[in-house]
Amino acid sequence: MKLVEVKKTLSLDDYASFAHLARAVEDLRAEARTLVPRLQSRRVLMVNSTAQGGGVAEMLPTQVQLLRELGLEVNWAVIESDRPEFFKLTKHIHNLIHGEGTPRLDAEARALYDAVSRENADRLRELLRPNDILVVHDPQPLGAGCLLRRELPIKAIWRCHIGLDEHNEATRAAWQFLRPHAEVYDHVVFSAPEYIPDFLAGRATVIHPAIDPLSHKNRVLHPHKLVGILCNAGLAGTHAPVLTAPFPTPARRLQADGRFGPATEPDEIGLLYRPIVTQVSRWDSLKGFAPLMEGFLRFKQCRPSAANQRQMRHTRRREIVRLVLAGPDPDSIQDDPEGVEVLEELCARYRELPPECHRDIVILSLPMDSRKLNALIVNALQRSSVVVVQNSLREGFGLTVTEAMWKGVPVLASSACGLRQQVRDGVDGRMVSEPTNPDEIAAVLDDMMQQPPALERWGRNAQLRVYNEFLVFAQLSRWLRLWTRVTRK
Ligand code: UDP
Repeated sequence: MKLVEVKKTLSLDDYASFAHLARAVEDLRAEARTLVPRLQSRRVLMVNSTAQGGGVAEMLPTQVQLLRELGLEVNWAVIESDRPEFFKLTKHIHNLIHGEGTPRLDAEARALYDAVSRENADRLRELLRPNDILVVHDPQPLGAGCLLRRELPIKAIWRCHIGLDEHNEATRAAWQFLRPHAEVYDHVVFSAPEYIPDFLAGRATVIHPAIDPLSHKNRVLHPHKLVGILCNAGLAGTHAPVLTAPFPTPARRLQADGRFGPATEPDEIGLLYRPIVTQVSRWDSLKGFAPLMEGFLRFKQCRPSAANQRQMRHTRRREIVRLVLAGPDPDSIQDDPEGVEVLEELCARYRELPPECHRDIVILSLPMDSRKLNALIVNALQRSSVVVVQNSLREGFGLTVTEAMWKGVPVLASSACGLRQQVRDGVDGRMVSEPTNPDEIAAVLDDMMQQPPALERWGRNAQLRVYNEFLVFAQLSRWLRLWTRVTRK
């Protein structure tokens, strides 16, 4: 077990100094003025399994820091083990909760899980005082938290960030294994109602994931900054001097011969000029890249219509629009053979396309050597898009959609469970019911692109929805309310 140091970077005043965030910060402060005193100096200990990498570790520093500023004593610890097979086992459990993998967890697995849970519980015990609130994230530390809840006069909440809106043998095996631990907790939290297993119904709450509006991924980029990022990343040609130096590793673009080369070859992508439709994701078969590419090609082939000026404009838009499919640099995912395979399949399909399609589909490898620069590139790509797509076959929540919605960019999302939590079809964007059906993707994309006023309205509604529901401030209010409720019992 290791205590993670959280350094103070941005304060609530920093957030409130942005006109568009001031009310959200004030709402959180008002809520905290009522609720923090009710918690009567109880401390909060957050526990997860890694200080770096993954969504939980990404958001915890902001959360811990803002909660401290609101007057709570909050700490963050990560569990450890010198037995690598423990993390292999918890990865297996993770996959089972997503419905994948061999649905077998035997007595040996149970003994390993219990032993590592015992070791970590004994270490975590030193950090806890009576009446503290323990918040345990995901299955890895679930067992340790369960022991502590049994042995100490504390309250314990399990926050599970994963789930599936279907049941199969795999999910049943995972929940059977976790049930004796999860049942001991005072309360559990999931990202969607569909993910709550039956045996936890009645003491489960939904708290959606949230984004930090001032992170490099989400902060406002003024035109010079945005252009600078695109030029420095090699995504746009430098037609005039720019202030900052090229990034150490540029983004690269798939070429007709199947190799990654400069992103401005064979021609300028047109990020600042053309209508751009973008999906940014890990190279994962469940992200639906391949059917999106087919759908886009069919959309491009729709019959031209030229009856009136509106239709002529639409025909022109369809002619010049490009699809950008972006994901992590393949060199950075060598430990993910499945990701490598998905990218290879996509590249193979790209190579088979008729030459006239090659320029319209841009497959990008984004540098991963600096988290900050990667985040700025994703930010700039999302802001340069007329539509952001997330065509996932399955999605736990889908932060890429939250990020685009926050930027007021209209989204085209599949109806995967996580995306359904965010997008209301025809209100905040549009949805396809079947992400593997290119005809549906083509039809919805065509329909979206024909309606510029609707695109603007969806973008506005989307931004407001994220403002109200999916920013870190709303999330912290929900945590404060939950802790007050749980400790009152
Ligand atoms: N992302 C990124 N660079 C990439 C690909 C993805 O920064 O090359 C980010 C993306 O912006 C989002 C996160 O990775 O913040 C993916 O989260 P999401 O919930 O969409 O999907 P997950 O990868 O967790 O399944």
